Amino acid sequence: MNTTHSAALFEKACQVIPGGVNSPVRACKSVGCDPLFVARAEGGIVIDADGNEFIDFVGSWGPMILGHSHPDVTKAVQEALANGTSFGAPTASEVEMADLVCDSVPSMEKVRFVSSGTEATMSAIRLARGYTGRNMVIKFDGCYHGHADSFLVKAGSGVATLGIPGSPGVPDDIVKNTLSIPYNNIEILEKTLRDDQLDIACVIIEPVAGNMGVIVPDMAFLQKLRELTAELGIILIFDEVITGFRLALGGAQERFGIMPDLTCLGKIIGGGLPVGAYGGKKEIMDHIAPDGPVYQAGTLSGNPLAMAAGLAMLKTVRKPGFYQELEEKSDRFAERLAEIAAKSSIPTVLNRIGSMMTCFFTDSPVTDFDAAMQADTDRYGQHFRQMLDCGIWLAPSQFEALFISAAHTPEQLDKALTAIATSLARLSEA
Ligand SMILES: *Cc1c(COP(=O)(O)O)cnc(C)c1O
Repeated sequence: MNTTHSAALFEKACQVIPGGVNSPVRACKSVGCDPLFVARAEGGIVIDADGNEFIDFVGSWGPMILGHSHPDVTKAVQEALANGTSFGAPTASEVEMADLVCDSVPSMEKVRFVSSGTEATMSAIRLARGYTGRNMVIKFDGCYHGHADSFLVKAGSGVATLGIPGSPGVPDDIVKNTLSIPYNNIEILEKTLRDDQLDIACVIIEPVAGNMGVIVPDMAFLQKLRELTAELGIILIFDEVITGFRLALGGAQERFGIMPDLTCLGKIIGGGLPVGAYGGKKEIMDHIAPDGPVYQAGTLSGNPLAMAAGLAMLKTVRKPGFYQELEEKSDRFAERLAEIAAKSSIPTVLNRIGSMMTCFFTDSPVTDFDAAMQADTDRYGQHFRQMLDCGIWLAPSQFEALFISAAHTPEQLDKALTAIATSLARLSEA
């Protein structure tokens, strides 16, 4: 594969951008290669700066559930563009979008738009603290909630991929107000939440973990979390930045029938433009300025181009049968992937729900962060490189999801499965 242009761009990038990238995992360090620079993308395909084509299973790390350059989204952005790009004043598109989001996500009565998932989660915990008058935030090992100070304690995604325990630059005073406990462990959960000394404002969780690889929660655990937080007056925040509009129109909460107090959204909601959102019960949301004392603001919040993209995306996924079709397509893909993996001598564990999945290179069930960390990341790196050679674009980390999009064609999925079989065969020869 010719990667001359990408290599030249990376060399230049490293001189002017830390690590040559604007988000750490893009650097591909953990899979032992240099990043490819993308020139354009369409449907299920990305094309790099050298003209190489790949079938894309990263989907910009989640947003591209419709595939790339979806005509409705492109058209909506072009139309909005003609009217100006930012006003710093309310627009009709924000109202329409808020209405659709609240109608789609069962627990959301009011919503505030921001510009990223990180902004959504950091604003949601500020609100939870302001509302309860308490300080402590409980999170789960390996869950990632963006890069705000409070969350960089045993975090997933790039933090886990690069093996960073926390982060320098986060003051101890902040770390001491975040407690991270194991995912899927009911006993530790109950003991922690019932500890009166802790002064707990909120619990934030990925209702399906997607940033330590995909880990589906034990329903008894999630149910218990809801019961305990309700009983103890602790705000339950679902970080549905990945799962929102992915696992169902109403996200994991709709799929599982478990309602949080607050929900954070990002990724899909912007249709590929920078949008985040947080929302929930009116009673809690009314504590945000200007109605209430908890401050949160944003110059580009509810940006008209971003709202146009988000609206076009939402209208598409709300069409009847959208999620059922995606589910069936993902079912078929996952079934065949499981068959291929079962035939291989390489031990793997496939965790999957709906259109998100992770194939871990390990031989024991992956139900929490410690188990995920047992996966053979060198082997994943080799698999990643072999897949890239076959024209398949996977996440450059074992601890991320593979996403199926509505744009993936049966031929593309077949090609990917053939490549996986070939790659596993080569791994077992090695
Ligand atoms: C990606 C992600 C975030 C952060 O969103 P950004 O838009 O990258 O700031 C937060 N929570 C979860 C679960 C995510 O996957």
